[in-house]
Amino acid sequence: MQVNRRQFLSTLTAGSAALVLGNIGFPDKVYATESVILPKLPYPGDALAPYISAQTISFHYGKHHQGYVDKLNKLLSQSDLVGASLETIIKAPTGPDKVDIFHNAAQVWNHNFYWLSLRPKGGGKPEGELAKLIEVSFGSVEALKEELKKAALTQFGSGWAWLVQEGEKLKVWQTDNADTPLTKGVTPLLNIDVWEHAYYLDYQNQRVDYVNAVLEHLVNWEFAAKNLKI
Ligand code: MN
Repeated sequence: MQVNRRQFLSTLTAGSAALVLGNIGFPDKVYATESVILPKLPYPGDALAPYISAQTISFHYGKHHQGYVDKLNKLLSQSDLVGASLETIIKAPTGPDKVDIFHNAAQVWNHNFYWLSLRPKGGGKPEGELAKLIEVSFGSVEALKEELKKAALTQFGSGWAWLVQEGEKLKVWQTDNADTPLTKGVTPLLNIDVWEHAYYLDYQNQRVDYVNAVLEHLVNWEFAAKNLKI
C-alpha cells in the first residue's frame, strides 16, 4: 500500500523530530514507507567507546533494534496498518490486537531517537535557546543532569529517561518498557535507554556508571536543540 502525499506531509509536520531525523542522515522513508527499516547508525559502531563499547552496539543495534524492526514488519504484514508511517502506527488506537504492534513500533522509534541522542565526543554544555530553556526550567545544566540521572536510576525495571518540551517548559520524564512521549502531547528532545541491554555488557549492574558516562561524554545537546519547537 502506498502512503499518499497528504499522509506523508502530515507525518512530516506532525513531529519536528521526524524532520530533524531526516535532516541528519536518517532516511525520511523511515517515517513514511511501506516497510519499516533499521536506519543506518549515525556514527561507526566503535565511535562511542570506551563509554559504550562496539560489542554493546553490535547487540543493541544489530540484534535488539533490528529485532524490533523485523518483528514489527511481520506484525504489520498481517494488519491494516501496513504501509503507514512509524508515527502513525505509534499513534494508532491500541486495541487488544494492536498492543504488540505498538510495543515494537515505539521501540523502533525510541531507538532511532536514542542513537541520535548520543554522539562521539558529546557532553559539554548546551547552547543558545536550549541553554536558556534549561536555565528557566531547571536552574542550571547541572540541575538538569541530576534530574535526568535520577529519572534514569529510579526507573524500575526496563524503560527510558527523557528530556521533553511542554510548551515553554522543559521537563524530565520516565517511561516504562516501550512507552514513548510521542503519544502524550509533548515534544521529545532526547532520551536515555535504561533497559539492561543498553549497559549490561559494559557496566553489568552499575546503571549509574552508564548514565554518568552518557551525561558526561556522549549526550548530544545539539540534537536536543534541533528538536526544540520554538
Ligand atoms: Mn534498547
